[in-house]
Amino acid sequence: QDVVNKIAAGEIIVAPENALKELIENAVDAGSTSLEVVIKEGGLKLLQITDNGHGIDKEDLAILCERFTTSKLKAFEDLSSIGTYGFRGEALASISHIAHLSVTTRTKESSCAWRAQYSDGKFVSPKPGQNAEPKPIAGRGGTQITVEDLFYNVPSRRRAFRSASEEYAKILDMVARYAVHCAGVSFSCKKHGASTADISVPTAAGTLDRIRQIHKATVANELVTLNAENERWGFKCEGWISNANYSAKRTTLLLFINHRSVESSVIKKAIEQTYATFLPKGGRPFVYLSLDIEPARVDVNVHPTKREVHFLNEDEIIAIICDEIRNSLSKVDT
Ligand code: ADP
Ligand code: MG
Repeated sequence: QDVVNKIAAGEIIVAPENALKELIENAVDAGSTSLEVVIKEGGLKLLQITDNGHGIDKEDLAILCERFTTSKLKAFEDLSSIGTYGFRGEALASISHIAHLSVTTRTKESSCAWRAQYSDGKFVSPKPGQNAEPKPIAGRGGTQITVEDLFYNVPSRRRAFRSASEEYAKILDMVARYAVHCAGVSFSCKKHGASTADISVPTAAGTLDRIRQIHKATVANELVTLNAENERWGFKCEGWISNANYSAKRTTLLLFINHRSVESSVIKKAIEQTYATFLPKGGRPFVYLSLDIEPARVDVNVHPTKREVHFLNEDEIIAIICDEIRNSLSKVDT
């Protein structure tokens, strides 16, 4: 059974960035306005995320890391939103099977924080002979999740990572995506022990400011807003896209569907083709898009690590978005 769990976990979490994505989404779902990430050795040694969200009730800690434990399917109508998320209640469970996981959390109602450590879905004691139950400790409201020694018990996976700096770059990319998308939330990300953060955006920063701060070297004053919607296909889209003065070697596409960072090679290709007529010499655009699509129309069978997403009437929706991009690019500069 444990072997099965370990294999399943290794399929959900294949790299530090997957674990981090899940933890960021949990923190955002908890209503946090502040999110701090600390990383050691590309996330393989330490991946820690501290939020100021609503916290977890002490009573819920015992089952927190069991598979399918979720607080996010309360209402019946929520069932349709499974489409958005693909799977439920598997992230923390999976992480507990392939790493040392500890959780410190405090709700508004609690007079102290509680700290619990997990292995294979269950409480473990911090030291041999000590109690495996959660321990009361001092702490502020919110949750801190600490993931140590990721894949310590999956040597084959562990060996697959060539360099910590490569993994750290992917982590920064993931944090940067959510830092752009989640207006109203402050983000920071740094290496353990570092005095300065590699990403830092304040709560008050608007979306454009967020993009400018994070992509400062590449995106100057060359962005315009994009808005599109269509009732028939059940979608709405907003974002910021580069104009014809901007040209990079590679496309930057920050794509969110229903507030989850996803990939779509179909959308990427369509956008690149749209820009091709406006950007000579093979220049590539910067595009941040946030799409809201009726959850029932998004492909349910997305595997958490396969971020590639599909949805109904993809072609029609992409055509509308690309028309909008074309309109905006063909406007004469004033
Ligand atoms: P899911 O997000 O699909 O519900 P997870 O395994 O990611 O499953 O998390 C399990 C549950 O743990 C969540 O439903 C939520 O109740 C709780 N939880 C996880 N992280 C946090 C957090 N940062 N703040 C508050 N609650 C959290
Ligand atoms: Mg989750």
